[in-house]
Amino acid sequence: MAEEHGQVVEDDAKERDPEREARRRLALAQIRQYPDPALRLHAAEVEAFDDDLRRLSERMLRLMTEASGIGLAATQVGVLRRLFVCRLGEEDAEDLRAFVNPVVSSAGEERETEEEGCLSLQGVLLPVERPARLTLEARDLSGEPVQVELEGLDARVVQHELDHLDGVLILDRTTDEARREALAKLRPRPQLAGRA
Ligand SMILES: [Zn+2]
Repeated sequence: MAEEHGQVVEDDAKERDPEREARRRLALAQIRQYPDPALRLHAAEVEAFDDDLRRLSERMLRLMTEASGIGLAATQVGVLRRLFVCRLGEEDAEDLRAFVNPVVSSAGEERETEEEGCLSLQGVLLPVERPARLTLEARDLSGEPVQVELEGLDARVVQHELDHLDGVLILDRTTDEARREALAKLRPRPQLAGRA
C-alpha cells in the first residue's frame, strides 16, 4: 500500500531529494506492476521458517521503505508465499512487522471508506470500504504464533496486504466509476514510433 495521498504526491515529488527519488524508482522497478499476472495469483502457506524466509522478509522491508510504501506482499515481488511486511503505528513510533500465514480471525461490524494506493498500481488512489477493526492472527518469522488487534490505518494496511496474497487488488474493491477511471490511467501508453 502506498503512503501517498492525493495532491500531496505532486508536491512531494518536487521536493524529494534526487538520491532518494532514484532509490524509490529502483525499488519500484523491482515490484511487480499491474497488469503483471503474478498479482492475480494465490500464494501458498509457508511451511519452512528458515533463512530463505528471513532473507525474503528483509528484502521486502527494504523495498517497501525505499519505495515509500507502508506495506508489501510477497506476491508483489513475484513470490507466491503467504507473507507480507508492513509499517504499523504512528510515524514517530513506527513498528516494522512481518506476518506469515496471516488470517483475519475476527472483524468489527463498523466499516470505513478511505482512499488507498498500491505500490503495484502507481498513480492511482481508490476509495475502498473495509472493516475498521480486526484481529489478525499469523506466525512471525520464527514460526511463533502472533495475534494483533488493529484499527484505523493499521487495520486497513493488513487487509490490503492480505488481499494481495489472494490475488485481490483495490481495483476489485472499489466503485465501478473509480475502477473505470483507474484502468484508463493504467492503460499502457503506446510506444512512440522509432523509439529504441
Ligand atoms: Zn498493494
